[in-house]
Amino acid sequence: MPQPLLLCIAGLLGAAVGSFLNVVIHRVPRGESVVRPPSHCPECGNEVRRRHNVPVAGWLLLRGRCADCGTPISARYPLVEAATAALFIAVTARFGWSWELPAYLYLAAIAIALAAIDLDVLRLPDRIVLPSYAVAAVLLVPTVLAGQTSWHVVVRGLLAALLLFAFYRALAAVPGGMGYGDVKLAPLLGFYLGWLGWNAVAVGAFAAFLLGGLVAVVLMAMRMAGRKSRIPFGPYMLAGAFLAVFAAAPIADWYTSLFVIAP
Ligand SMILES: [Zn+2]
Repeated sequence: MPQPLLLCIAGLLGAAVGSFLNVVIHRVPRGESVVRPPSHCPECGNEVRRRHNVPVAGWLLLRGRCADCGTPISARYPLVEAATAALFIAVTARFGWSWELPAYLYLAAIAIALAAIDLDVLRLPDRIVLPSYAVAAVLLVPTVLAGQTSWHVVVRGLLAALLLFAFYRALAAVPGGMGYGDVKLAPLLGFYLGWLGWNAVAVGAFAAFLLGGLVAVVLMAMRMAGRKSRIPFGPYMLAGAFLAVFAAAPIADWYTSLFVIAP
């Protein structure tokens, strides 16, 4: 398939998936079904019309208000759709038409949902995290059976999963440390990053703490958070993981170059 066409399809698929993620982000923390009832205005209860359900465009068409009662609709809806589309395009550009593509697109989708939910309610719901282990196994392991990847890659993924689990589990034991939602997510990211290589594991884990630390310092400096505030860590774990997916090799090369004296 020609690359521009593949990227266009990825963008459209991402926008549609983003539209569904909005439903997931709103309903999963409330324990509601993501299938029923159809999307409706929380204020007047009227169902969203089909033409207004088009990702991004629907919100723009309505100028951010319910068609029936005029209640403002959060700009986060089109933002989630646009961000999912952008991430899907980037992941597709990274992996191309490959066995790994569906697995990493799935990771992109849950990353957006989990980051938004963690920011909202400081939780990473089991309903999303736990089934994702099965999905990752089903999408990635057949590549080995098809002879596309060696068993070493799977073993490296499992070792990285164990390593990150042990690391986050130890941090969770420290008072005020990681939440157990983070501990349950860590091995999934470890598996995905270990699949790509040890560089990706190192860059992903390190970037999470660097990004999370930077944001915490900025929030404290702006007095938007105190020493005791709970800051969700999931969004940084996920952002770090995707930084590693896209740029682990150049970052690792740059980092080692700092310690190697050129001859
Ligand atoms: Zn309404």
